[in-house]
Amino acid sequence: MTTTAARPQLAYLKDQMDELKRKGTHFKLRVLEDECAPECTFDGQHVINLASNNYLGLTTHPKLREAAIEATKKYGVGPGAVRTIAGTMKLHMELEEKIARFKNVEACVVFQSGFTANAGTVSAILGKEDFIISDELNHASIIDGARLSRAKILVFRHKDVAHAEEHLASVKDQPGRKLLITDGVFSMDGDIGPLPGLCDIAEKYGAIMMVDDAHSSGVLGRNGRGTIDHFDVHGRVDIQVGTLSKAIGAIGGYVCGSRDLIDFLYHRARPFLFSTSHPPSVTATCIAAFDVLEQEPQLIEQLWKNTKFFKKELGTLGFNIGGANTPASETPITPIIVGDGKLTMEFSRELFKNGVMATGIAFPTVAEGKARIRTIMTATHTQDEMERALEILGRVAKKMGIIS
Ligand SMILES: *Cc1c(COP(=O)(O)O)cnc(C)c1O
Repeated sequence: MTTTAARPQLAYLKDQMDELKRKGTHFKLRVLEDECAPECTFDGQHVINLASNNYLGLTTHPKLREAAIEATKKYGVGPGAVRTIAGTMKLHMELEEKIARFKNVEACVVFQSGFTANAGTVSAILGKEDFIISDELNHASIIDGARLSRAKILVFRHKDVAHAEEHLASVKDQPGRKLLITDGVFSMDGDIGPLPGLCDIAEKYGAIMMVDDAHSSGVLGRNGRGTIDHFDVHGRVDIQVGTLSKAIGAIGGYVCGSRDLIDFLYHRARPFLFSTSHPPSVTATCIAAFDVLEQEPQLIEQLWKNTKFFKKELGTLGFNIGGANTPASETPITPIIVGDGKLTMEFSRELFKNGVMATGIAFPTVAEGKARIRTIMTATHTQDEMERALEILGRVAKKMGIIS
């Protein structure tokens, strides 16, 4: 037997990878050798980590760690079946009830990830006679869900409520249902979706309103309740999606809304029906995380304090942190716009060698010519870590001619 690598059937994939190498956007996975923390080790290199979504440092919070261990001891390592067959554990119900109370909605369903929550929900609630009116920068999981639903997709310019309204008006006499959908916080630019304006037009045209709060849960609103709370549009958003993989520190996604919506998803959302749910350790971890959001609001205060400091200093250094021909960040996600894809990837590699982990993001994840290093601040970065990271960012960028 020869190895599978030698077989010709998949040679075209290697050709495509070679093309990425020529373009300079090919990457190797960086391997984390210890915990996800503000300072950690990737591939043997000690770095200050500006690349994680670990907003509140919950990946290593003692209460969450303890909850995972306790649940494993008490309930084992897996549920043994999909939720609808025999795999719904008491812990799953407890987490869903806890999130529903936290979000002040009737009900909640937890999915394996934020990705499956979005894709599973959008594809379940709409069909091919329906319409989806979607922000051009919405997350890939929304786009995939929209495609799976076979509904017609009308894309509006980023955060452009008037353009979204044009789309709604253009289909108002068509029989299909309309879904208006936006990210709460946009993951590449760190700006916030225009929820009040979108809620207004959703109501005017009788559209279903859906918000993906993956990057806002644990970050915005009272105790991290997200953008619906931030804008006080409670009761005006039919479907709220959140993730348990970012600020919450573990993995998973959830959908909040009316009891009827959640019952429907229990019966029709395909990732819920056909894929096994979380092990007890994950579910218990997430329950503990929502307790921490309620009990330790100082984490979110520190997150915003750090964010303000770090953004201000990046600006002072002369970096383009968005706002000119890109959206201006309003959250702990701060992009450093470089422009050229290849230069961005080189910048990221040089930063890494000098002790800063900050991911380069280029086309097709962001528009051509808007390649950037994305930085994400957390509550657990110390003043000293932020200052060292800034010193390295400034020094490397000057040497490469990115700032003067
Ligand atoms: C990360 C992200 C998701 C996916 O969440 P996972 O839990 O990692 O699958 C969905 N939507 C947005 C906007 C995101 O940033």
